[in-house]
Amino acid sequence: MSLNLLGLNREQFQSWCAERGEKPFRARQMMRWMHQSGVNDFALMSDVSRDFREQLSACAVIEAPTVLKDTTAPDGTRKWLFDVGTGNAIEAVYIPEGDADDEPAAEGAPATRRYRGTLCVSSQAGCALECSFCSTGRQGFNRNLTVAEIVGQLWHASRSLSAATGMERPITNVVMMGMGEPLANFDNVVSAMQLMLDDHAYGISRRRLTLSTSGIVPAMDRLRDACPVALAVSLHAPNDALRDELVPINRKYPIKELMAACVRYIEKAPRDFVTFEYVLLAGINDSVAQARELVQTVKSVSCKINLIPFNPFPGSGYERSAAPAIAAFRDVLHQAGLTTTVRKTRGDTIDAACGQLAGQVRDKTRRVQRRLEESRT
Ligand code: SAH
Ligand code: SF4
Repeated sequence: MSLNLLGLNREQFQSWCAERGEKPFRARQMMRWMHQSGVNDFALMSDVSRDFREQLSACAVIEAPTVLKDTTAPDGTRKWLFDVGTGNAIEAVYIPEGDADDEPAAEGAPATRRYRGTLCVSSQAGCALECSFCSTGRQGFNRNLTVAEIVGQLWHASRSLSAATGMERPITNVVMMGMGEPLANFDNVVSAMQLMLDDHAYGISRRRLTLSTSGIVPAMDRLRDACPVALAVSLHAPNDALRDELVPINRKYPIKELMAACVRYIEKAPRDFVTFEYVLLAGINDSVAQARELVQTVKSVSCKINLIPFNPFPGSGYERSAAPAIAAFRDVLHQAGLTTTVRKTRGDTIDAACGQLAGQVRDKTRRVQRRLEESRT
């Protein structure tokens, strides 16, 4: 089988080249062709020797997963559905903000109309963690994505967007917030993120690369040492009793341990805060009393709160909180001095909004079958 070069980080690519008698700069040169110019045909790599190009054609490929569907919403949000084999599909979503004619926003610049292009990337086909309000979780888990499949989403999105818009760097930010729990696919996600950060590949800064986790505490500590990037933590409840229900991994790593892990993470993180994500579910976790409790729960951590209006999907059993409830919840957090934003629902006309990424996954755990059986008894 041919080796997919999209799956090699710089270190691995350099040693792969060395094994073939090539200098390290060859790897860097080829990385720029692949990741920055979006080239997948070795013949076009004009500054690479003919001999080496022929060798490469015989044993290697540069290949993203096959696109099954490519949809753009009226608000510019674009979603790709990729085939990852054996009946499984995963999704990536591009969210543009500001004016594409403007220069990309400078690091730390205030929010203006400056262009920002964010790609939401998947890390697994399905997810094993069964959060009750998440459509990916409902599908069960099939497998971890390879590094080439994770990077392939960014590679494909970048070259398609460049071709469509003429922009040199259409993607300025990446969020590991698509399908799957990134920290449950630790090694592949770290390798893929190293490529995202690499100046010879995508050159995204650590502050503009965000990983979202449901709170796998030991893996948060490992991430802090291996590849600290901006961190978002899916909290969703102000106390253990409710979080146990909504985010079942809480039974293993309860809130107190999670908060301590956040404090440890911040010591080495590129940002001096953690973002807590909180999906607002009508009548479940959206009362003013729960907002007050949340203020106490997060008080040991330097944080920002991102409130996410629930994105419904068929059979979810939950409803989105009404606008006044969302505003009242936000006001309590504001008054307590917590920086709080309410996420705009982008791309919902193409089912590309947060938590709607369903793809299509063959559930190896046969969870769907189990649910059907449970519902019959
Ligand atoms: N597994 C990781 C990252 C993927 S989910 C995590 O859980 O953090 C990305 C975000 O979408 C998480 O905060 C998740 O809780 C949220 N989410 C899941 N389902 C949702 C839904 N139906 N509506 C809104 N947000 C949802
Ligand atoms: Fe998995 Fe995240 Fe969905 Fe929970 S919210 S089931 S961790 S993808």
